[in-house]
Amino acid sequence: MAKTRCPNCDTIISISNPREGTVIECAACGVELEVVRKDPFQVDFTDDWQNEWDDE
Ligand SMILES: [Zn+2]
Repeated sequence: MAKTRCPNCDTIISISNPREGTVIECAACGVELEVVRKDPFQVDFTDDWQNEWDDE
């Protein structure tokens, strides 16, 4: 089981078989996160999320 922390709320996210490019949702805060690396397991905000912020 791969584990990492949500970059938004710091909750531990665990996933059994992460694949790069997979979009997952944090169960705690609901933010969409993309798997950017599987070993070590690492997630980052999706491009859509970042674009929303760029518009402001
Ligand atoms: Zn979160």
